[in-house]
This record gives sequence, structure tokens and C-alpha cells, in this order.
Amino acid sequence: MAMWNPWRGCHRYSEGCRFCYIHKGDAKRGVDTGRIEKTDSFDAPIARKNSGEYRMKPGLVYLGFSTDFLLPEADAWRGDCWDMIRQRQDCTFLFLTKRIERFAACVPEDWGDGWDNVVVGCTVENQRRAEERLPIFSRLPIRHKNIICQPMLSPIRLEQYLDGVELVVAGGESDRFARPLDYDWVLDLREQCIRRSVSFSFRQCGTHFIKDGREYTLQKKDLCAQARKANIDVWMETAAMFR
Ligand code: SF4
Repeated sequence: MAMWNPWRGCHRYSEGCRFCYIHKGDAKRGVDTGRIEKTDSFDAPIARKNSGEYRMKPGLVYLGFSTDFLLPEADAWRGDCWDMIRQRQDCTFLFLTKRIERFAACVPEDWGDGWDNVVVGCTVENQRRAEERLPIFSRLPIRHKNIICQPMLSPIRLEQYLDGVELVVAGGESDRFARPLDYDWVLDLREQCIRRSVSFSFRQCGTHFIKDGREYTLQKKDLCAQARKANIDVWMETAAMFR
């Protein structure tokens, strides 16, 4: 799987942004996250080797993991990205966003009912954001939809918005001051997915993790391994590429 970050930088936008890993990484390096800049790998999907082959291999490409792909500051650059995505039909581009309300204004004219090689993940960190973003998301013409509840900051009822969704991801927050993740919220979300035959993946525990009413503090290195150990993922054929 490849990573493509055509630009970098972002602004905190909602509750889930408090311990954003991009802000934390930049702070360590003394970089201003609020400065939105194109990166050297802007053209990565169409860069070629001397042999003429594309450098980026076919398959799943994680797009915009050092930004939000729908950031307004990048409006002037996004058209070139769509051109590259259109050109690389052998790749599937996945991006996550907390700004789904901007989606309709950000797609190219020939978007139609969506492109088969684009997966959009709508991030909802609590019930408030689920009710705000998912009614918009559910109406959008997108062929492959994921819902990302990470960091999950409250129980989330989203069953009514699962039509056409291929995968729901749950995960906790990672930070010394992280807000706790209650395992009961995760299990409840999983049940909602099972009832609607939607794939579900528990990606990481929270630094502060509540199970059976008891709070545990976990090391960053163990967050994903502990979630995997729970062994509660549910996979349908439609989400096979995300396993
Ligand atoms: S929208 Fe995403 S990338 Fe931007 S600040 Fe929030 S968590 Fe970070």
C-alpha cells in the first residue's frame, strides 16, 4: 500500500482534532501545522521510472494523511489531484475527512455518481458530529464509503446512516491526556454494523481504556495490538481491500 501526501498542514476543526498526530509531530519538529504547503510528492501517482513504469505501484493508496484532503486552502491544487486519480485507474485512492460538507464543491465536473477508484472515509468522533456529518455523507454520490469513529469520544448511534457504507472503523485516542474509550461503545457500534451487514474494524484501544467499568492506561505501542487481540472485526466481501 502506498501513501500520497500532495500537501501538508491542517487546522483543528472539531473535538477529535485535539490530539491530532500531525500537530503533535510538527510541534516536535518546530513546524507550523497551520501553514498549508504543497509537498515534493505532489505528482507522485504519475511520476515514472527511467523504464517508463509508474513509480507508485497499483493498489490501495492512502491519500492526504498529513492534511485533510478537503481543506479550503487546497482548492486551487485539488483539480490536478483529480486528474492524476483519473489517470491511475489501477490504484484505489482512500482519503478521510472531517469536512464532508465541502465534498460536493470539491469534486470534478465528471464525478457523476462517483469514481470506482476513490474511497471516502467520513470521520465522526461523537454523536454530535455523526448527526451533523452523516446525513450529508449518506446523500453524496460516492461509490465506496467508510465511516471512521476514531478517536471515538462517546457512544455513537449511526445505524440509520449505514446504507451503502462498506466499513466502519472504531478506535481510541492516543495521548497522555487522551479522553477515555469505553469498550462498551465499541461493542455497541459493532452490533449496529452486524445488524446492517457492514464490515467493522476495531483499529486501536485508547491510551485510557475502560473495560467492564475498570480504567486501564495503555502504552502507545500496545494500542493496536490490544485491539487486534480483542478479535472482534467483522468482514464482508465488499471491504476485502481494507483487511
Ligand atoms: S482535520 Fe484531521 S488532520 Fe486536520 S487537525 Fe483535525 S485531525 Fe488533524
